[in-house]
Amino acid sequence: MNSLLDELLKLTKEPKIAYFSMEIGIQNDIPTYSGGLGVLAGDTIKSGADLKLPMIAVTLISKKGYFRQELDRKGKQIVHPVFWDPSMYMALLPTKITVQIEGRDVALQVWQYNVKSLTGGSVPIFFLDTDVEGNTPEDREITSYLYGGDLAYRLKQEIVLGIGGVRMLHELGFEIKKYHMNEGHSSLLTIELLNMYKRPIEDVWDEKLVWDVDKVKDLCVFTTHTPVEAGHDKFPYDLVEMIMGEQIPLNVLKELGGRNHLNMTLLGLNLSEYINGVAKKHSEVSRNMFPGYEINAITNGVHSYTWTCESFKKIYDKYLPGWANEPELFVRIGRIPDEEIWDAHIEAKKNLFNYIKGETGVEFNINTLTIGFARRATAYKRADLLFSDIDRLERIGDEKLQIVYAGKAHPKDETGKKLIEKIFSIKERLNDKIKMVYLNNYDMDIALKLVSGVDVWLNTPLRPREASGTSGMKAAHNGVLNFSVLDGWWIEGHIEGFTGWSIGPNPTEEILDDTMDTRDADDLYKKLEYVIIPIFYTNRHLWVRMMQNAIGKNAYYFNSHRMMRRYVTEAYIR
Ligand SMILES: *Cc1c(COP(=O)(O)O)cnc(C)c1O
Repeated sequence: MNSLLDELLKLTKEPKIAYFSMEIGIQNDIPTYSGGLGVLAGDTIKSGADLKLPMIAVTLISKKGYFRQELDRKGKQIVHPVFWDPSMYMALLPTKITVQIEGRDVALQVWQYNVKSLTGGSVPIFFLDTDVEGNTPEDREITSYLYGGDLAYRLKQEIVLGIGGVRMLHELGFEIKKYHMNEGHSSLLTIELLNMYKRPIEDVWDEKLVWDVDKVKDLCVFTTHTPVEAGHDKFPYDLVEMIMGEQIPLNVLKELGGRNHLNMTLLGLNLSEYINGVAKKHSEVSRNMFPGYEINAITNGVHSYTWTCESFKKIYDKYLPGWANEPELFVRIGRIPDEEIWDAHIEAKKNLFNYIKGETGVEFNINTLTIGFARRATAYKRADLLFSDIDRLERIGDEKLQIVYAGKAHPKDETGKKLIEKIFSIKERLNDKIKMVYLNNYDMDIALKLVSGVDVWLNTPLRPREASGTSGMKAAHNGVLNFSVLDGWWIEGHIEGFTGWSIGPNPTEEILDDTMDTRDADDLYKKLEYVIIPIFYTNRHLWVRMMQNAIGKNAYYFNSHRMMRRYVTEAYIR
């Protein structure tokens, strides 16, 4: 324990950037993530460590995980808690602090996990935990379920993350030069900062001026991830008063967080000097949603080393040594011979197909064009767009296509759950004309197998709902070609017939009407039949050239090293 504290003492010597996120996906068996947002947070931290940035991260311990997904024969989702033991991965620190919830003092403890890079860099993650002796049984569960429970439960979690997080860092002795809020879940940290930097009442001529908004703004960076109004956390003020009490006067809180309810995005926006969306289009949409705010764009990226499969790592090591810490080296992808790229791809494909066989008993054919689709099962992602006209798909894909799906639905997302069941029933129907499987319990390990082991990565969101999307960037790192609606990052990464293919109209064209699904589906079928299938089966040379372009243009750019360099120069140091 002493060496732990010694280490901590060393860590606290230099001012840090504190990255706050409700979920962090750092490795598969630490189940403190649900999907894209958490995996992005993990990739951010890994790049921070590789680049030796003075960074620390704060999140919740989520002791019972998000959930483990079981799918029955009809695709009905059954939800299981994930029990895991933090002490197997991280160290419990002796430090404790308290936060006030419903008028009670709730004690928080903290676990430290160090993300260590081969470069010698290291970023500690602090996992907050209310499962402390002396807390009421109910309070001990606050950090159990990621995105579980009701609105009150969520607010309690956000108090722990935001207010508790700042207090804990302070107690541990850190000096923080920037607080980076990854989405609105951690916005309450601004309230704690307002209290920390409060001016003495005798020094100000107006009572309101005790709140040093400019000071807090100067310390805060806010990244929004949600292009839909309903996706932003909002709490009615009576609930806020009941659970949080009056940390700052209600009229001040309302001025910062919204008149009618406490909107966590608004709170973050009002107290951050630097604000950004996660792709150019997403920033544009966010500016329309929150007029008057300067919302910049830093397009997401993925951690190259984490999201490259073994066989591609091997050829990158051979031809582009140093690539993992300098993904710009992908610019020289043309040095790798075609055959070696293809062989690496076939190896990844075999690896995926072995997994599919083991999980489902279905044997995929290595020579057949394989489409992958895996993401959160929720309405806007339109997982069923590919099946808009099943007869047409059967005709196009007979003996020429295989399809693999995966994805969890949030336990309260009834439409999402129905979507999985629908895909299961279609799977039955397609049967032996087009082989198709739906893999259980989508997680980071399965994601890597999928984004490297299919030939084409399909994405069909309803515009402009995909803020960025990151799985397509992972695919590009493994030479897997994107076939996607022009939304999020793909607007920036897509060059038709060069890095991959688009589905549906240009992003500048009129959007969101009732005929959208039909038009998108029609374009999807046409390209599949007349462009993608013919190239795959008759022009291997062009296919491999496109794989190289995906790596040399997309992976070259859409990685978290580039993203972090931009956060440093545009958001952290300014
Ligand atoms: C990368 C990843 C995601 C995010 O993918 P999207 O393209 O944003 O849908 C979700 N879940 C897991 C497990 C991932 O690895």
